Amino acid sequence: MLLIDCPWCGPRDDSEFQYGGEAHKRRPPAPDQVSDAVWADYLFHNQNPKGLYLERWRHSAGCRRWFNIARDTVSHAVLEVYPADALPSNAAARAVYEQNWRRENEAAANAAAVAETTEIGA
Ligand SMILES: [Zn+2]
Repeated sequence: MLLIDCPWCGPRDDSEFQYGGEAHKRRPPAPDQVSDAVWADYLFHNQNPKGLYLERWRHSAGCRRWFNIARDTVSHAVLEVYPADALPSNAAARAVYEQNWRRENEAAANAAAVAETTEIGA
């Protein structure tokens, strides 16, 4: 049994919760304008670490709110529970967030967008 500490309701059995997959995945803002590879990345490619993982959960049998958890996939120890729109404050969990391959892809996409904007403005 996994005991999850809902930020609004307190500790509850994991049977009250729905797993929502990897945390901090961003849906492409215009799905009809992205390549199949980008869309497949969003839909199908997830981290699958042996160790600390950032996950989305919903208290489906309680307050029905979404939130994030930093959980060790080996020991099932919950390191931190934090709001869905926030980043983890725990240093180890923050490192997992920053080392995720999605952050590198986002940085590259942002750099390309800035370069494109600069070319247009020049
Ligand atoms: Zn709740």
